[in-house]
Amino acid sequence: MFWVRFETEGRTRSGILEDGMIREIRGSFFEGGEFSGEVFPLEKVRLLAPVEPTSIFCVGRNYTEHAKELGHDLPEEPLIFLKAPGSVLSPEGTIRIPLWAGRIDYEGELAVVIGKTCRNIPEEKAQSVIFGLTCLNDVTARDLQNRDGQWTRSKSFDTFCPLGPWILKSGEARGRRIETRLNGRVVQAASTDMMIFPVGRLISHISRFATLRPGDVVATGTPAGVGPMLPGDVVEVEIEGIGILKNRVAGDPS
Ligand code: MG
Repeated sequence: MFWVRFETEGRTRSGILEDGMIREIRGSFFEGGEFSGEVFPLEKVRLLAPVEPTSIFCVGRNYTEHAKELGHDLPEEPLIFLKAPGSVLSPEGTIRIPLWAGRIDYEGELAVVIGKTCRNIPEEKAQSVIFGLTCLNDVTARDLQNRDGQWTRSKSFDTFCPLGPWILKSGEARGRRIETRLNGRVVQAASTDMMIFPVGRLISHISRFATLRPGDVVATGTPAGVGPMLPGDVVEVEIEGIGILKNRVAGDPS
């Protein structure tokens, strides 16, 4: 059972997806939601990013082999940065890569969606504030990241945060295969068990400095195998038991 946001008949709606059919709910995911009685076939709607986060907290270098491939030491505590909420892209949206900005990479990641307003959450209670799990592509302007010294610009171009296609509610983050494919070729393949800092530790760490709110997203880091995308490419992030986030890539000359 998956929670989805979608658009049909000119309206933005939410619902629960089961066996290819979406049962619409009224109100927010986070308040429980009541069924409206309307049902839509999945193939007849346009999927939207499953949440509109106020914050997207990301973690850098959370898989050992990825830290090594970029030539970094392993972090002693989670290395947290932000992506601008305006960079969120729907599951069917097109990633627009700035043609003047050099190398633009995919980074397939497991994303955790927060379900409750919370602060100072101990690691062992983190599961209680998680709404669910989805896929995220932490698109990165690699040359600008290296040049700028901090990462806001390189991570936050419009369309640089594909999110979806839906949320698996109350799923376990551990033990899931994560795979990224570029034009059908597997370029990243790992297990979420390979994270240096597990999800509970990340939520505990972030909630010590910031209040987390319903709909906020924690991107848990990318495994080894990052690489560049070019206009015309198709990139897929698949996480076992959740789904496939598939986006096309186009050049943006502006
Ligand atoms: Mg990343």
